[in-house]
Amino acid sequence: MEEAFMQRTVTCGELRGCDDGKTVILNGWVDRNRNHGAIHFINLRDRYGKTQIVVDDDSSKELEEIASQLRNEYCIAVKGKVRKRPDEMVNKDMSTGEVEVKAEKIDILSKCQVLPFQIEDETNAKEDLRLKYRFLDLRSKGMQDRIRLRHEVIKAIREYFYKTDFYEIETPTLVKSTPEGARDFLVPSRIYPGKFFALPQSPQLYKQILMVSGFDKYFQIARCYRDEDPRGDRQLEFTQLDVEMSYVKRDDVLALMEDLFGYVFKNVVNVELPKAFRRITYNDAMEKYGTDKPDLRFDLEIKDGTELANASSFPLFKSAVSGNGTVRYIVAPKNEKKDFTRKYLAELEESAKVYGADALYFIKVENGTISGGISKFFQGLDKKVIEKTGAKDGDVILFVANNNWKKCLTSLGAVRNKLGSDLDLIKEGYAFCWIIDFPLFEYNEDEGHWEAAHHMFSMPQAEYIDTLEEDPGKVKGDLYDLVLNGYELASGSIRIHDVELQKRVFRICNFSDEEAEKRFGFLLDCFRYGAPPHGGIAPGIDRLCMILANMNSIREVIAFPKNTAAMSPMDDSPSFVEEKQLDELSLEIRHNDEN
Ligand code: ASP
Repeated sequence: MEEAFMQRTVTCGELRGCDDGKTVILNGWVDRNRNHGAIHFINLRDRYGKTQIVVDDDSSKELEEIASQLRNEYCIAVKGKVRKRPDEMVNKDMSTGEVEVKAEKIDILSKCQVLPFQIEDETNAKEDLRLKYRFLDLRSKGMQDRIRLRHEVIKAIREYFYKTDFYEIETPTLVKSTPEGARDFLVPSRIYPGKFFALPQSPQLYKQILMVSGFDKYFQIARCYRDEDPRGDRQLEFTQLDVEMSYVKRDDVLALMEDLFGYVFKNVVNVELPKAFRRITYNDAMEKYGTDKPDLRFDLEIKDGTELANASSFPLFKSAVSGNGTVRYIVAPKNEKKDFTRKYLAELEESAKVYGADALYFIKVENGTISGGISKFFQGLDKKVIEKTGAKDGDVILFVANNNWKKCLTSLGAVRNKLGSDLDLIKEGYAFCWIIDFPLFEYNEDEGHWEAAHHMFSMPQAEYIDTLEEDPGKVKGDLYDLVLNGYELASGSIRIHDVELQKRVFRICNFSDEEAEKRFGFLLDCFRYGAPPHGGIAPGIDRLCMILANMNSIREVIAFPKNTAAMSPMDDSPSFVEEKQLDELSLEIRHNDEN
């Protein structure tokens, strides 16, 4: 039987000087075809690298003709002899740069149409075009490297858990719709018209049930689905490493994660992480960095401005501190990147206003004195202001005053982040920290009731358990977040395993006992059958890979992401379906005039 095609004997990344003289077959894509007179230099590319193919001027006419037909991204097979390149022609940038292959036969396996964009190491084509032709975009070196990195991360995670005696257990993707924080994706049931499955927002309840069933060390690389509006760098579906363990306390979970991340970073990027990560309480994180996900690659801390506000004659500050308000400041250091011009100060103010600040007040420090902005309210207090803030000549002190503690701090947190990047303060590397002692509940102003800050299955800290209902806002949870370089990388908690306590938390979150039984009856039921104490965590894989790949968007580390408008330009999903499919599901689409 005749061969279907010349099948490769080597990849495009493996030939070296020692292969000199061998006859080989390569398969791959034409990365570049340059011709110097009758000589063609063809760079052939596959997942493993690039190899230079030469069609010499002593080649047959047929071979020369085929070589002249080759266009970028044609998929070809080449048979030829490996030969060493002369010393001065060795290409140090290519792993195969010592050699080239003198072609004897070239077959075109398939042609390529005119390309929508060139496949380069990093293309600068518009993202939607890249996503429409993702199959081409994925051929670029950047995407190939990132998909490989993601594979390495997942491989290292699995290795770690297998060697530490965890079971990998799959949980269903068609589950009961339960309120877990975000909106559920619903899947209509054909067999039970009018009934729906939901896609899991996370395997949360199932992993807890697995603990009750005795699988005391569980992990899963789990796909999670949340039907949220397109906003920032979100995906409708994302991947998390889901972990749960029985008979553990908070510190056991934190230690496991420190060890896991140590293993992953060592194995994937050869970086040695500290054995333990810094721990910061939620309150301290807010006070110092104005966020519960601080970027610790730079210092710049927020400071308490109460004393200065009291000393000043600025009515707005005075009334803030005498009431329930908060005054905080940050010292922006003199630097070479940015002058603190009126325009730049206005930009900083804008970033504060996004988080609810009414204004960003400033004082400049020059020649040992204070000037500009609100300095007139600090008359005669130059020394005090300079000493208290530690500001040096050329620095600017930036204040926010607000009746709402969180608004005041998050506004300054945004200013801190902007200064960090604008002033080039961010050091290279990986800065991990734990945020602990979060409030268990948050007040939902719109709906007028308390809700869980993380999710409703998290344990209150022991000292608050007896008095939960008295002041839910004061209750701290046994909750923890892992933060890396200013991103929330993981959230987790020790869970409630007692029916009565779980019901009390449901009640505080506005679920009557009846409603709770209806929605979460299966969880409450399983807690009635000897539930062990347990806890867990779930790091986001997309974000982890994004940070390791030094990218700003998780779309860069997902093979087939949705775009920023929450659709897929490649397959055009979501799409309309056939009337017949709707009929089978007993569904009817309500068309409004615009449809
Ligand atoms: N299920 C939680 C989440 O997806 C994580 C956890 O508590 O383990 O955020």
